[in-house]
Amino acid sequence: MALKVDLRHFLDEEGNVLALTAQAKKVFEFLTKIVMSVSENIEKPLIDVDLKCNTRADDLTCDGDIKAKCISISMIEWHCDSCEASGTVSNWHGSTWDKQVRIIH
Ligand SMILES: [Zn+2]
Repeated sequence: MALKVDLRHFLDEEGNVLALTAQAKKVFEFLTKIVMSVSENIEKPLIDVDLKCNTRADDLTCDGDIKAKCISISMIEWHCDSCEASGTVSNWHGSTWDKQVRIIH
């Protein structure tokens, strides 16, 4: 089952992170780390994110590694290299966690 997340759902109108439950916070931190890794390495076809599959929830035991890639300007796709876990993150572009080097015109 793919986890489809719109990053904006975690933020208020000013882009600040909403008050989250412990579980939601864990998932959010997992996803923002993916966004940071991918946006830093945007030119790579597939990025090894320094995350384990079980980082996203307390009750997971899979210690597979997370791989991710940018599939479009507003969409990042990630998956675990050991189990079926996968998902997408949308609307990450331009967020606090977007680490792309901005070109100043
Ligand atoms: Zn896994």
